[in-house]
Amino acid sequence: MEVQLKDVTMQFNNTTAVDRLNVTIKDGELVSMLGPSGCGKSTTLFMLAGLYKPTAGEIFFGDRLVNKIEPEHREIGMVFQNYALYPHLTVLKNIMFPLKMRKVPNKEAEELAREMAALVQIGHLLDRKPGQLSGGQQQRVAIARALVKKPKILLLDEPLSNLDARLRLEMREEIRRIQQEVKITTIFVTHDQEEAMSISDKILLMKDGKFQQFCPPEEMYDYPDNEFVASFLGSPPINLCPASIMDNLKEVSISGTGDVISLSSLLKTKISHARQVILGVRPEDFYVEKDENKQGIHGKTMMVERIGRDHLLNVEVQNKTIRAIVSPDFRIERGDVVKLGILPGRAHVFDAHTGESLL
Ligand code: ATP
Repeated sequence: MEVQLKDVTMQFNNTTAVDRLNVTIKDGELVSMLGPSGCGKSTTLFMLAGLYKPTAGEIFFGDRLVNKIEPEHREIGMVFQNYALYPHLTVLKNIMFPLKMRKVPNKEAEELAREMAALVQIGHLLDRKPGQLSGGQQQRVAIARALVKKPKILLLDEPLSNLDARLRLEMREEIRRIQQEVKITTIFVTHDQEEAMSISDKILLMKDGKFQQFCPPEEMYDYPDNEFVASFLGSPPINLCPASIMDNLKEVSISGTGDVISLSSLLKTKISHARQVILGVRPEDFYVEKDENKQGIHGKTMMVERIGRDHLLNVEVQNKTIRAIVSPDFRIERGDVVKLGILPGRAHVFDAHTGESLL
Protein backbone atom coordinates (compact mmCIF):
# COMPACT_ATOMS: atom_id res chain seq x y z
CA MET A 1 0.00 0.00 0.00
CA GLU A 2 1.23 3.52 -0.80
CA VAL A 3 2.19 5.72 2.15
CA GLN A 4 2.08 9.48 1.82
CA LEU A 5 3.24 12.10 4.29
CA LYS A 6 2.12 15.67 3.63
CA ASP A 7 3.78 18.41 5.69
CA VAL A 8 3.89 16.04 8.64
CA THR A 9 5.13 17.77 11.78
CA MET A 10 5.62 16.64 15.36
CA GLN A 11 6.27 19.17 18.07
CA PHE A 12 7.16 18.16 21.64
CA ASN A 13 7.11 21.30 23.80
CA ASN A 14 10.10 23.23 22.45
CA THR A 15 11.44 20.50 20.17
CA THR A 16 10.32 20.13 16.59
CA ALA A 17 11.13 16.43 16.23
CA VAL A 18 9.78 16.28 12.66
CA ASP A 19 9.43 19.41 10.56
CA ARG A 20 7.06 19.47 7.56
CA LEU A 21 8.01 16.12 6.09
CA ASN A 22 6.75 15.40 2.56
CA VAL A 23 7.35 11.91 1.16
CA THR A 24 5.48 9.37 -0.94
CA ILE A 25 6.44 5.72 -0.51
CA LYS A 26 5.17 3.52 -3.32
CA ASP A 27 3.34 0.26 -2.81
CA GLY A 28 5.80 -2.59 -2.19
CA GLU A 29 8.86 -0.41 -1.62
CA LEU A 30 11.37 -0.98 1.16
CA VAL A 31 12.41 2.41 2.49
CA SER A 32 15.07 2.99 5.13
CA MET A 33 14.77 6.05 7.32
CA LEU A 34 18.30 7.08 8.05
CA GLY A 35 19.98 9.88 9.96
CA PRO A 36 21.95 10.72 13.09
CA SER A 37 20.57 10.18 16.56
CA GLY A 38 17.70 12.55 17.34
CA CYS A 39 16.88 13.38 13.70
CA GLY A 40 13.27 12.23 14.06
CA LYS A 41 13.30 8.71 12.59
CA SER A 42 11.54 6.96 15.45
CA THR A 43 9.06 9.81 15.87
CA THR A 44 8.14 9.48 12.18
CA LEU A 45 7.75 5.71 12.52
CA PHE A 46 5.59 6.14 15.63
CA MET A 47 3.36 8.59 13.75
CA LEU A 48 2.97 6.03 10.96
CA ALA A 49 2.14 3.40 13.57
CA GLY A 50 -0.44 5.68 15.20
CA LEU A 51 1.41 5.73 18.54
CA TYR A 52 1.92 9.50 18.10
CA LYS A 53 -0.55 11.85 16.46
CA PRO A 54 1.14 14.49 14.25
CA THR A 55 0.76 18.05 15.50
CA ALA A 56 0.28 19.13 11.86
CA GLY A 57 0.11 17.57 8.42
CA GLU A 58 -1.55 14.49 6.98
CA ILE A 59 -0.65 10.83 6.69
CA PHE A 60 -2.35 8.75 4.00
CA PHE A 61 -2.29 4.96 3.62
CA GLY A 62 -3.52 4.57 0.06
CA ASP A 63 -6.43 6.99 -0.20
CA ARG A 64 -7.25 6.80 3.49
CA LEU A 65 -6.32 9.66 5.81
CA VAL A 66 -5.12 7.83 8.94
CA ASN A 67 -4.26 10.72 11.31
CA LYS A 68 -7.13 9.84 13.61
CA ILE A 69 -7.11 6.07 13.14
CA GLU A 70 -5.95 4.02 16.12
CA PRO A 71 -2.91 1.72 15.68
CA GLU A 72 -4.96 -1.50 15.74
CA HIS A 73 -7.06 -0.31 12.80
CA ARG A 74 -4.18 0.79 10.59
CA GLU A 75 -3.35 -2.65 9.11
CA ILE A 76 0.29 -2.36 10.07
CA GLY A 77 2.77 -4.86 11.48
CA MET A 78 5.53 -3.57 13.70
CA VAL A 79 8.86 -4.99 14.90
CA PHE A 80 10.67 -3.19 17.71
CA GLN A 81 14.34 -3.13 18.62
CA ASN A 82 13.81 -5.45 21.62
CA TYR A 83 11.38 -7.79 19.76
CA ALA A 84 8.91 -7.62 22.73
CA LEU A 85 8.10 -11.35 22.62
CA TYR A 86 6.04 -12.90 25.42
CA PRO A 87 8.56 -14.96 27.43
CA HIS A 88 6.02 -17.40 28.91
CA LEU A 89 4.48 -18.32 25.53
CA THR A 90 5.90 -20.76 23.00
CA VAL A 91 7.05 -19.52 19.59
CA LEU A 92 3.82 -20.81 18.03
CA LYS A 93 1.66 -19.05 20.64
CA ASN A 94 3.68 -15.86 20.25
CA ILE A 95 3.03 -15.81 16.52
CA MET A 96 -0.67 -16.69 17.02
CA PHE A 97 -1.12 -13.95 19.62
CA PRO A 98 -2.31 -11.10 17.35
CA LEU A 99 -4.85 -13.45 15.77
CA LYS A 100 -6.17 -14.58 19.16
CA MET A 101 -6.66 -10.92 20.05
CA ARG A 102 -8.80 -10.64 16.94
CA LYS A 103 -10.74 -13.74 17.92
CA VAL A 104 -9.64 -15.72 14.86
CA PRO A 105 -10.66 -19.40 15.47
CA ASN A 106 -7.85 -21.48 16.93
CA LYS A 107 -7.38 -23.83 13.99
CA GLU A 108 -7.19 -21.04 11.42
CA ALA A 109 -4.85 -19.02 13.67
CA GLU A 110 -2.51 -21.98 14.04
CA GLU A 111 -2.48 -22.58 10.29
CA LEU A 112 -1.62 -18.97 9.58
CA ALA A 113 1.06 -18.95 12.30
CA ARG A 114 2.67 -22.09 10.85
CA GLU A 115 2.62 -20.54 7.39
CA MET A 116 4.45 -17.43 8.72
CA ALA A 117 6.91 -19.56 10.71
CA ALA A 118 7.77 -21.42 7.49
CA LEU A 119 8.24 -18.10 5.66
CA VAL A 120 10.78 -16.92 8.23
CA GLN A 121 12.30 -20.43 8.53
CA ILE A 122 11.60 -21.23 12.17
CA GLY A 123 9.11 -24.06 11.59
CA HIS A 124 11.30 -26.39 13.69
CA LEU A 125 11.30 -24.10 16.76
CA LEU A 126 7.58 -23.73 17.39
CA ASP A 127 7.51 -25.43 20.81
CA ARG A 128 10.37 -23.42 22.29
CA LYS A 129 10.06 -20.38 24.52
CA PRO A 130 11.81 -17.12 23.46
CA GLY A 131 14.49 -17.61 26.16
CA GLN A 132 15.62 -20.77 24.36
CA LEU A 133 16.28 -18.96 21.07
CA SER A 134 19.24 -17.03 19.66
CA GLY A 135 18.89 -13.32 18.92
CA GLY A 136 18.42 -13.95 15.20
CA GLN A 137 15.74 -16.58 15.86
CA GLN A 138 13.89 -14.22 18.20
CA GLN A 139 14.03 -11.62 15.47
CA ARG A 140 12.42 -14.07 13.04
CA VAL A 141 9.62 -14.78 15.54
CA ALA A 142 9.00 -11.05 15.91
CA ILE A 143 8.78 -10.68 12.11
CA ALA A 144 6.43 -13.67 11.79
CA ARG A 145 4.22 -12.20 14.52
CA ALA A 146 4.17 -8.82 12.77
CA LEU A 147 3.19 -10.42 9.44
CA VAL A 148 0.63 -12.95 10.63
CA LYS A 149 -2.28 -10.49 10.42
CA LYS A 150 -1.35 -9.91 6.77
CA PRO A 151 -0.77 -6.18 7.31
CA LYS A 152 -0.50 -3.75 4.40
CA ILE A 153 2.54 -1.98 5.85
CA LEU A 154 5.48 -3.30 7.88
CA LEU A 155 7.29 -0.93 10.26
CA LEU A 156 10.68 -1.90 11.66
CA ASP A 157 12.40 0.14 14.37
CA GLU A 158 16.15 -0.59 14.42
CA PRO A 159 15.34 -4.31 14.30
CA LEU A 160 18.96 -5.44 13.98
CA SER A 161 20.64 -3.31 16.61
CA ASN A 162 20.77 -6.05 19.25
CA LEU A 163 22.47 -8.57 16.98
CA ASP A 164 26.19 -9.16 16.52
CA ALA A 165 27.83 -8.09 13.26
CA ARG A 166 27.51 -11.42 11.42
CA LEU A 167 23.91 -12.01 12.42
CA ARG A 168 23.05 -8.46 11.44
CA LEU A 169 24.31 -9.17 7.96
CA GLU A 170 22.35 -12.41 7.73
CA MET A 171 19.14 -10.93 9.13
CA ARG A 172 19.17 -7.87 6.91
CA GLU A 173 19.32 -10.16 3.88
CA GLU A 174 16.51 -12.19 5.39
CA ILE A 175 14.36 -9.11 5.93
CA ARG A 176 14.87 -8.20 2.28
CA ARG A 177 14.00 -11.74 1.13
CA ILE A 178 10.87 -11.91 3.27
CA GLN A 179 9.79 -8.42 2.23
CA GLN A 180 10.15 -9.29 -1.44
CA GLU A 181 8.31 -12.56 -1.00
CA VAL A 182 5.37 -10.90 0.76
CA LYS A 183 5.68 -7.74 -1.41
CA ILE A 184 4.77 -5.54 1.53
CA THR A 185 5.50 -1.81 1.79
CA THR A 186 8.20 -1.68 4.48
CA ILE A 187 9.67 1.21 6.43
CA PHE A 188 12.84 0.44 8.27
CA VAL A 189 14.51 2.75 10.79
CA THR A 190 18.27 2.53 11.09
CA HIS A 191 21.20 4.77 11.88
CA ASP A 192 23.56 2.43 10.01
CA GLN A 193 24.23 3.82 6.54
CA GLU A 194 25.68 0.56 5.25
CA GLU A 195 22.55 -1.31 6.31
CA ALA A 196 20.35 1.27 4.59
CA MET A 197 22.50 1.19 1.43
CA SER A 198 22.40 -2.60 1.21
CA ILE A 199 18.70 -3.44 1.51
CA SER A 200 16.62 -0.43 0.53
CA ASP A 201 14.81 0.50 -2.63
CA LYS A 202 15.05 4.07 -1.38
CA ILE A 203 16.59 5.90 1.54
CA LEU A 204 14.92 8.79 3.35
CA LEU A 205 17.69 10.79 4.98
CA MET A 206 16.82 13.24 7.75
CA LYS A 207 18.69 15.71 9.93
CA ASP A 208 17.29 17.71 12.87
CA GLY A 209 13.75 16.69 11.96
CA LYS A 210 14.19 17.96 8.41
CA PHE A 211 14.04 16.15 5.12
CA GLN A 212 17.40 15.93 3.34
CA GLN A 213 16.95 13.57 0.39
CA PHE A 214 14.74 10.65 -0.70
CA CYS A 215 15.93 8.41 -3.56
CA PRO A 216 17.58 5.04 -4.36
CA PRO A 217 20.82 4.41 -2.42
CA GLU A 218 23.14 4.57 -5.44
CA GLU A 219 21.64 7.86 -6.55
CA MET A 220 22.07 9.33 -3.06
CA TYR A 221 25.67 8.17 -3.00
CA ASP A 222 26.54 9.49 -6.47
CA TYR A 223 24.38 12.61 -6.51
CA PRO A 224 23.99 13.94 -2.96
CA ASP A 225 21.83 17.06 -2.78
CA ASN A 226 23.97 18.67 -0.10
CA GLU A 227 27.17 18.39 1.89
CA PHE A 228 25.45 16.65 4.82
CA VAL A 229 24.05 13.87 2.60
CA ALA A 230 27.46 13.45 0.95
CA SER A 231 29.22 13.11 4.28
CA PHE A 232 26.60 10.84 5.89
CA LEU A 233 26.93 8.11 3.23
CA GLY A 234 30.20 6.34 2.59
CA SER A 235 32.93 4.81 4.71
CA PRO A 236 35.65 6.03 4.84
CA PRO A 237 33.78 9.30 4.38
CA ILE A 238 33.96 11.75 1.50
CA ASN A 239 36.81 14.30 1.61
CA LEU A 240 35.61 17.89 1.81
CA CYS A 241 37.96 20.83 1.24
CA PRO A 242 37.43 24.55 0.78
CA ALA A 243 38.22 25.63 -2.76
CA SER A 244 37.48 28.43 -5.22
CA ILE A 245 36.09 28.21 -8.69
CA MET A 246 38.38 30.12 -11.06
CA ASP A 247 37.22 32.82 -13.46
CA ASN A 248 37.35 30.41 -16.41
CA LEU A 249 34.65 28.29 -14.64
CA LYS A 250 36.55 25.14 -15.58
CA GLU A 251 39.06 24.91 -12.77
CA VAL A 252 39.12 25.00 -8.98
CA SER A 253 41.97 26.05 -6.78
CA ILE A 254 42.31 24.24 -3.47
CA SER A 255 42.43 26.83 -0.70
CA GLY A 256 45.83 27.38 0.84
CA THR A 257 47.73 25.07 -1.53
CA GLY A 258 48.17 26.79 -4.90
CA ASP A 259 46.99 23.53 -6.51
CA VAL A 260 44.66 24.08 -9.44
CA ILE A 261 42.58 21.27 -10.96
CA SER A 262 40.37 21.29 -14.01
CA LEU A 263 37.05 19.60 -13.34
CA SER A 264 34.91 18.11 -16.07
CA SER A 265 31.96 18.17 -13.60
CA LEU A 266 31.97 21.97 -13.71
CA LEU A 267 31.14 22.09 -17.41
CA LYS A 268 27.56 21.01 -16.82
CA THR A 269 26.77 23.22 -13.84
CA LYS A 270 24.65 26.28 -13.20
CA ILE A 271 27.71 28.07 -11.78
CA SER A 272 28.02 31.40 -13.54
CA HIS A 273 30.77 33.19 -11.63
CA ALA A 274 33.96 32.58 -9.67
CA ARG A 275 33.10 31.74 -6.06
CA GLN A 276 34.05 29.92 -2.86
CA VAL A 277 32.89 26.31 -2.75
CA ILE A 278 33.44 23.07 -0.87
CA LEU A 279 34.98 20.43 -3.10
CA GLY A 280 33.95 16.87 -2.23
CA VAL A 281 35.76 13.77 -3.45
CA ARG A 282 35.15 10.21 -2.26
CA PRO A 283 38.30 8.28 -1.32
CA GLU A 284 37.75 5.82 -4.19
CA ASP A 285 37.43 8.63 -6.74
CA PHE A 286 41.06 9.74 -6.70
CA TYR A 287 43.80 8.43 -8.88
CA VAL A 288 47.07 8.63 -7.10
CA GLU A 289 50.40 9.14 -8.84
CA LYS A 290 53.91 9.72 -7.62
CA ASP A 291 54.62 12.23 -10.41
CA GLU A 292 54.69 15.55 -8.59
CA ASN A 293 54.71 17.62 -11.75
CA LYS A 294 51.24 16.68 -12.91
CA GLN A 295 48.09 18.65 -12.16
CA GLY A 296 46.33 17.62 -8.96
CA ILE A 297 46.37 17.97 -5.20
CA HIS A 298 49.87 17.51 -3.84
CA GLY A 299 50.51 16.01 -0.44
CA LYS A 300 52.60 13.68 1.67
CA THR A 301 51.55 10.14 2.55
CA MET A 302 51.29 9.87 6.31
CA MET A 303 49.76 6.42 6.61
CA VAL A 304 49.08 3.36 4.47
CA GLU A 305 46.40 1.09 5.91
CA ARG A 306 44.95 -2.11 4.51
CA ILE A 307 41.14 -2.14 4.19
CA GLY A 308 39.84 -5.38 2.71
CA ARG A 309 41.55 -5.81 -0.69
CA ASP A 310 42.62 -2.20 -1.05
CA HIS A 311 44.90 0.25 0.66
CA LEU A 312 43.74 3.43 2.31
CA LEU A 313 46.17 6.34 2.22
CA ASN A 314 46.11 9.28 4.59
CA VAL A 315 47.66 12.13 2.65
CA GLU A 316 48.54 15.36 4.40
CA VAL A 317 47.60 18.45 2.41
CA GLN A 318 48.06 21.80 4.21
CA ASN A 319 47.62 20.27 7.70
CA LYS A 320 44.48 18.51 6.54
CA THR A 321 44.17 14.78 5.97
CA ILE A 322 42.78 13.55 2.67
CA ARG A 323 41.84 9.89 2.40
CA ALA A 324 42.38 8.06 -0.87
CA ILE A 325 41.91 4.39 -1.76
CA VAL A 326 44.45 2.69 -4.03
CA SER A 327 44.80 -0.85 -5.33
CA PRO A 328 47.26 -3.06 -3.44
CA ASP A 329 49.49 -3.23 -6.59
CA PHE A 330 50.31 0.45 -6.22
CA ARG A 331 53.68 0.66 -4.48
CA ILE A 332 53.62 3.37 -1.87
CA GLU A 333 55.11 3.99 1.54
CA ARG A 334 54.73 6.41 4.39
CA GLY A 335 56.61 9.60 3.54
CA ASP A 336 56.07 9.37 -0.25
CA VAL A 337 54.97 12.59 -1.91
CA VAL A 338 51.97 12.04 -4.16
CA LYS A 339 49.61 13.82 -6.50
CA LEU A 340 45.89 13.18 -6.21
CA GLY A 341 43.94 13.50 -9.45
CA ILE A 342 40.15 13.26 -9.53
CA LEU A 343 38.42 10.72 -11.77
CA PRO A 344 36.41 12.43 -14.52
CA GLY A 345 32.91 13.44 -13.43
CA ARG A 346 33.44 12.28 -9.83
CA ALA A 347 33.97 15.61 -8.07
CA HIS A 348 31.17 17.11 -5.99
CA VAL A 349 30.88 20.86 -5.57
CA PHE A 350 28.84 22.41 -2.75
CA ASP A 351 27.97 26.00 -1.96
CA ALA A 352 30.37 27.18 0.76
CA HIS A 353 27.55 28.82 2.74
CA THR A 354 24.44 26.70 2.29
CA GLY A 355 26.10 23.33 1.62
CA GLU A 356 23.70 22.77 -1.33
CA SER A 357 25.09 20.88 -4.31
CA LEU A 358 25.97 23.14 -7.23
CA LEU A 359 26.05 20.33 -9.78
P1 ATP B 1 17.70 7.71 17.67
O1 ATP B 1 18.47 7.24 16.48
O2 ATP B 1 18.58 8.19 18.79
O3 ATP B 1 16.62 6.77 18.12
P2 ATP B 1 15.73 9.33 16.26
O4 ATP B 1 16.22 9.82 14.94
O5 ATP B 1 14.83 8.15 16.22
O6 ATP B 1 16.95 9.08 17.24
P3 ATP B 1 13.63 10.64 17.71
O7 ATP B 1 13.59 9.63 18.79
O8 ATP B 1 12.54 10.62 16.70
O9 ATP B 1 15.02 10.57 16.94
O10 ATP B 1 13.72 12.10 18.38
C1 ATP B 1 13.69 13.31 17.65
C2 ATP B 1 13.73 14.47 18.60
O11 ATP B 1 12.53 14.54 19.37
C3 ATP B 1 14.85 14.40 19.63
O12 ATP B 1 15.34 15.70 19.85
C4 ATP B 1 14.17 13.85 20.87
O13 ATP B 1 14.83 14.29 22.03
C5 ATP B 1 12.78 14.44 20.75
N1 ATP B 1 11.76 13.56 21.33
C6 ATP B 1 11.46 12.30 20.92
N2 ATP B 1 10.44 11.80 21.65
C7 ATP B 1 10.10 12.76 22.56
C8 ATP B 1 9.11 12.86 23.60
N3 ATP B 1 8.27 11.85 23.83
N4 ATP B 1 9.06 14.00 24.30
C9 ATP B 1 9.88 15.04 24.06
N5 ATP B 1 10.83 15.02 23.08
C10 ATP B 1 10.95 13.89 22.34
